Amino acid sequence: EMLDLTLVAATDATLPAEPAEVRHLIAGEWRASADGATFDRRSPAHGVVVTRAAKGGVAETEAAIAAARQAFDDGRWSELSGKERATLLLRVADLIDRDRERIARVETLEAGKPIAQSRAEIEGAADLWRYAAALARTLSGDSHNSLGRDILGVVLKEPIGVAAIICPWNFPFLIVSQKLPFALAAGCAAVVKPSEMTPSTTVILGELLMEAGLPAGVCNIVLGFGDPVGALMTTDPRVDMVTFTGSTGVGKAIVAAAAPTLKKVSLELGGKNPQVIFPDADLDGAVDAIVFGVYFNAGECCNSGSRIIVHEDVAEEVTARVVALSRKVAFGDPLNEATKVGAIVSPEHQAKIDGYVKGAVAAGATVRLGGAALDVPGLGGQFYQPTVVAGVTPDMAIAREEVFGPVLSVLTFRTMEEAVSLTNAASYGLSAGVWSENVHTCLAFARAARAGTVWTNTWMDGFAELPFGGVKESGQGRELGRYGLEEFLEVKTVQMRIGRTRTPWVAAG
Ligand code: NDP
Repeated sequence: EMLDLTLVAATDATLPAEPAEVRHLIAGEWRASADGATFDRRSPAHGVVVTRAAKGGVAETEAAIAAARQAFDDGRWSELSGKERATLLLRVADLIDRDRERIARVETLEAGKPIAQSRAEIEGAADLWRYAAALARTLSGDSHNSLGRDILGVVLKEPIGVAAIICPWNFPFLIVSQKLPFALAAGCAAVVKPSEMTPSTTVILGELLMEAGLPAGVCNIVLGFGDPVGALMTTDPRVDMVTFTGSTGVGKAIVAAAAPTLKKVSLELGGKNPQVIFPDADLDGAVDAIVFGVYFNAGECCNSGSRIIVHEDVAEEVTARVVALSRKVAFGDPLNEATKVGAIVSPEHQAKIDGYVKGAVAAGATVRLGGAALDVPGLGGQFYQPTVVAGVTPDMAIAREEVFGPVLSVLTFRTMEEAVSLTNAASYGLSAGVWSENVHTCLAFARAARAGTVWTNTWMDGFAELPFGGVKESGQGRELGRYGLEEFLEVKTVQMRIGRTRTPWVAAG
């Protein structure tokens, strides 16, 4: 059968002649690794080396942690006023806007995502820096004036200290911006490790922080791998908390690694996010949202709408329409403005995606579209076809595990109870969606779904004001909203006696 997809061949946009060289930011200085080690990153779409990064070891990680600890403890940032911190965060947002094009291009070269979406990601990230600046000025605790005439109780919110920030490769600039500006707004110092696949936009952010005047040592960046950089960040006693976005497996390892020092751990992990489609839904809207939900960022998205649960009465119609619309989504060179879906992040990841599809077929599912690697003319990287797998049953790996690729699983239901039970059968609980023109149906589903976010008649909208995170194995803690700031704050209670009103415990005689 003819695939009949929409492909965007290689553009004539020039690739960098030489890889960009990036280094660690430690105590306000740009440093190579002590042993001179580096690692290369290839553009996943173009196959050429675009970045040569310093490869952090124990020495760099310990130096970064020491710098953050000292910067936090001496108050060079933590003791500034909210106004001063907010002013700096706003300056960073302006610098991000100024450099949007440069950051977006690097994001596209390292992550493989379409340039238009990189631009939108950088713009969205700048908004998070502005929102965190607003929070920095509204940060306050509580007072208790009804504890009796003799006592005034005051609850202070204090920065938790040194935050270790560990990020993945799928939205490198956005995810670091869901964490770092909130940590800085709270008054924390930070050590940041970007994924080894996408180091450069975090390095650019470090340059902008220095340009904006962030005191040295308040934000340190160590480039390199989970072992040893990430691991040391989660065990060192000088680190007070870890905030991590990535796989559930590594999330669990981090909780275990942080246990001996009882660090606070915030986790934003995977999902197996369903969109549930009732027969009375606006099917035009639902079909477009299904296609968006599964192919956005090539499905390499914690919020990927990787399964749909469709009422039997409309299942065949919805599946056929999703297949038809999938053929119109432009896959190809991420440097081309017209592209909607770019490359898969690595050959290993491509093989993992393909393994899930082959496994589903072996278990009895039917591939309705795609199901194999995609050749894009003129490009040397790896791409995967838009893929729709029908006849999926809840026991299949493709129905339960995070595929993290452009692969949709179609399941069916007859009753609300069945839809909710299929939704909640996953070990994940990040997000869920429901499509119905009946508000009662939407509300009943929204209340019954075990998920951190529920969308009704929409998918993957996001706002700085609204908290984001998961339940069950999708994580703990929340980012964004006021909760995103609270993650980086510790509570201190101050109890103040008014006058010499305390009853002696012992009679002094
Ligand atoms: P990982 O969870 O392995 O990586 C995320 C970050 O954690 C990277 O910076 C990584 O470093 C670091 N890391 C790895 N091991 C440790 C450790 N022991 N201690 C501390 N930090 C560590 O994600 P992958 O990139 O391997 O992706 C695998 C799967 O994870 C995907 O297929 C997807 O299912 C899921 N995922 C989910 C994301 C989400 O948004 N929720 C984002 C990305 C992935 P490095 O890789 O540089 O060595």
